[in-house]
Amino acid sequence: MTGRKHDFPDDLQDFEVAGRLTIDLSALKANWKALARRAEPAEAAAVVKADAYGLGIERVVPALAEAGCKTFFVAILSEARRVRMAAPDATIYVLEGLAYGAASVFRDYAVRPVLGSLEEIDHWAGHCRQWGQSLPAAVHVDTGMTRLGLTLAEADALAEDPSHFDHFRLALVMSHLACADTPDHPLNREQLRRFTDLRKRLPDAPASLANSAGTIIGGDFLFDLVRPGVAIYGGRAVGGIPNPMRPVITVEARVIRIREATAGTPVGYSGAERLMRDSRLAILSAGYADGYLRAGGSADGRPGAEVTINGQAAPVVGRVSMDMIAVDITDFDENAVKTGDYVELLGNRFTVDDLADKAGTIGYEILTNLGRRFRHIVKDG
Ligand SMILES: *Cc1c(COP(=O)(O)O)cnc(C)c1O
Repeated sequence: MTGRKHDFPDDLQDFEVAGRLTIDLSALKANWKALARRAEPAEAAAVVKADAYGLGIERVVPALAEAGCKTFFVAILSEARRVRMAAPDATIYVLEGLAYGAASVFRDYAVRPVLGSLEEIDHWAGHCRQWGQSLPAAVHVDTGMTRLGLTLAEADALAEDPSHFDHFRLALVMSHLACADTPDHPLNREQLRRFTDLRKRLPDAPASLANSAGTIIGGDFLFDLVRPGVAIYGGRAVGGIPNPMRPVITVEARVIRIREATAGTPVGYSGAERLMRDSRLAILSAGYADGYLRAGGSADGRPGAEVTINGQAAPVVGRVSMDMIAVDITDFDENAVKTGDYVELLGNRFTVDDLADKAGTIGYEILTNLGRRFRHIVKDG
């Protein structure tokens, strides 16, 4: 355990922060390696957009590079600069493409744009020609997402006029799956068919289609390079099967008060839940401002999320406040929890995805919103 601290001055004490977020880099590396083995002989990249899904580019990228990852995808250029600092030799792609005026920044940082329209392709080609350097870029084709990428008609136009590729190096042809979290969704096969078809008509280049879910489904979806994101961070990528990844983060909050209340007492805002029995409650020092979603609370007749005390579930009682959560500890030993203890909000037993299910969202949204009031602890091994 390295116990490195982040975001807070070193002299802050435990009682000054909302809680702690522990990032297990050995689990992160093991997850990436497991995905890389599944993908073989294809190469496994890592998607580290949104500050590595909220866990921090500066910690995640060096760990993944150490595990053997050579290619990183980010959403925006400022993230690419941070990845470049953290991994000087990496190949870096920017998914959101080439903004007007940005070409020389891509060149200076040796970062590759994912070109998603004919305009972007011509823009990059024009700059490369002017520089006299055939620099690499990816071309993104839309096969069913209707977001970024060339339409199939535009891709056909491109295929018919290969002079577009005279001045830059086509390093990757890629597309993105819209429904891979549901493996038998018919759009997966349809996107695969469109992508396979199109690839034959474009100049020969490595191809990439799979996100985490596509990597876990495997088979024909793997092509030459896979782009997992959420699975590296321990999140559930595919529904309906046990999550094959190791949890990477643990979130804990402090017990700031223990109190008793009699049956029938309403707890928290709006009195949304009334106690069914005489109860002991622990009030915890984190809330929705820390990314523990308000929709994880309970109401009469509707159970909410759970926290974990000594490996056992303790249910959340009533609404989640901005800075606090009440949990029911009636069934615990008198000495099981005391003021100042840490209680696990998210971890191995009740995961990021469990909270997401309770709150009507996905683990991705929980991960990328875990707050800034936690002390961050990075452990490795
Ligand atoms: C975010 C993203 C990924 C990674 O998706 P996960 O579901 O997190 O694995 C891969 N490719 C593209 C184009 C993306 O936008």
